Amino acid sequence: MDSIRNFCIIAHIDHGKSTLADRMLVHTKTVGEREMRDQVLDSMDLEQERGITIKSHAIQMDYEHEGKTYKLNLIDTPGHVDFSYEVSRSIAACEGALLIIDSTQGIQAQTISNLYLALENDLEIIPVLNKMDLPNAIPEVVEDQVIDLIGCDREEIIHASGKTGMGVEEILERIIEKVPPPKGDPEAPLQALIFDSVFNSFRGVIAYFKILNGQIKTKDLVKFVATGKQYDADEIGVLKLNMVPKNVLSAGDVGYIISGIKTAKEVKVGDTITHVESPCDKAISGFEEVKPMVFAGIYPVDADDYEDLRSAMDKLQLNDASLTFEPESSAALGFGFRCGFLGLLHMEIIQERLEREYDMNVITTVPNVSYLVHLTDGNTVRVYNPSGLPNQTVIDTIEEPYIRASIITSSDFIGPVMNLCLDKRGVLINQSYLTAERAELVFNLPLGEIVFDFYDKLKSISRGYASFDYHMNGYKPAKLVRLDILLNGEMVDALSTLTHFDNAYPFGRRMCEKLKELIPRQQFDIAIQAAIGAKIIARETVKAVRKDVTAKCYGGDISRKRKLLEKQKKGKKRMKQVGNVEVPQNAFLAVLKLD
Ligand code: GDP
Ligand code: MG
Repeated sequence: MDSIRNFCIIAHIDHGKSTLADRMLVHTKTVGEREMRDQVLDSMDLEQERGITIKSHAIQMDYEHEGKTYKLNLIDTPGHVDFSYEVSRSIAACEGALLIIDSTQGIQAQTISNLYLALENDLEIIPVLNKMDLPNAIPEVVEDQVIDLIGCDREEIIHASGKTGMGVEEILERIIEKVPPPKGDPEAPLQALIFDSVFNSFRGVIAYFKILNGQIKTKDLVKFVATGKQYDADEIGVLKLNMVPKNVLSAGDVGYIISGIKTAKEVKVGDTITHVESPCDKAISGFEEVKPMVFAGIYPVDADDYEDLRSAMDKLQLNDASLTFEPESSAALGFGFRCGFLGLLHMEIIQERLEREYDMNVITTVPNVSYLVHLTDGNTVRVYNPSGLPNQTVIDTIEEPYIRASIITSSDFIGPVMNLCLDKRGVLINQSYLTAERAELVFNLPLGEIVFDFYDKLKSISRGYASFDYHMNGYKPAKLVRLDILLNGEMVDALSTLTHFDNAYPFGRRMCEKLKELIPRQQFDIAIQAAIGAKIIARETVKAVRKDVTAKCYGGDISRKRKLLEKQKKGKKRMKQVGNVEVPQNAFLAVLKLD
């Protein structure tokens, strides 16, 4: 066990985690120079394109140090707030962490939140300043921030560059010297922590684990404590660039298990693997069921594609257990699904995968959060969809979810950031300075305000410099009302939103104005109205056009006429017929585009 080092990398997005990890893989010859594509750890296409790590992975490197071969297990973590539970479990599987900070950017919100997680888990922290090759690096300033934050000596901070390879050897040496080998008793009953899983269409679900105590052998009968399910360990092994089967793994090891598991739902991150015979006394602490926080309707553009959409969602759920969905119908959009996501990025990923991998043409409605609605008869219902809100007359109170948000910004932007958060009904909890120029603001904010366009706004008011991280922080009562949109007198359920009463009037007005821009002129006037209950609070009109496109065709040139009609039809592909009005797909997301 004393030749094992388990470590992870914590870094804010884009600070160079993947690039440095790749450098280490090459340096330890885990991957040959020639096999090396950029960022091998980010294996999913979408991840590579977006340059972000969506799913965490693990990889073992062998490294010689003073005549001894060490096994270094690098556990990669996703770099986005939506996946923070996975990050926390990966961190729990390690004894050390590289804290990577972009030396041109300094400490950002995610650096801090992940660092706290690492400190809670007693990890040895190795600070690294990356991108030292860049001329605008400000190492002294960033070093001051790091020293302030973790209380290390200036000399302990490694200067590195994922681009030139500077510092990579020093990082590996430091890991061996400073990160303690895993503890644990190989003779004790098996206790292994699942920190991740992947779906493989040939082998089923592969769970990644770290053994805290005991041993696991091929063919052992094991049990996953939280799900209560039993499996034969058909294959166990370690993760190099490929899976390398082994007969035995023991305390301190990081490995994988293949056991005929068909769906991702059966493998819960944070769960404990133990033996059916002589199991461990207690599950590993910290297990949580991850719950979707953001909901939206997904509908096929063409109603005939409903069954295909269902099967695509089924398949996606096989490898992404955090996606939930149930059938839903909308008067405006027909049959579709109400889906639950971990957050907005997760929602975008699912939508993109549906279109890319399953060739689906879908309409996604405005995202919303879930509400606790207390009724006058004493019952409480959970509402996942604004149009499902019970009638105002039977509602006693509504509670909405809150987050505790940490925003790090340069002091120049504190004013605008404050204004944005206050405008989103935020309450300032704390304000502190990391250095003279950088401040951390902590706000309690309604999650429902964040799912709209908060992040984009934050980026734009701070010219891209403010960073943001959040944690769920319970439910609080709020004066919410349902705002409905009517097109030519017909309510469009997919456009209903819950909004705070104090903002409802201006919000309704902006919705009508935006829809007027987005809905093209048609053969008749279209009245756009916003209403609270029976009360109309805003109105706009899209004026009729009377031009017949085919009128341009002089004479009876049939083929020209047909071409024009076909062209028109194509243009309509992403239109949805709502009553007698044709509504383009992007109008259903109008609320996201309000300025
Ligand atoms: P991650 O989000 O933390 O995994 O960051 P990446 O490894 O994907 O890096 C983000 C961007 O920074 C990419 O465009 C990299 O090419 C670039 N990058 C990473 N490390 C360095 C470095 O040391 N120097 C320079 N100049 N660019 C780097
Ligand atoms: Mg990355």
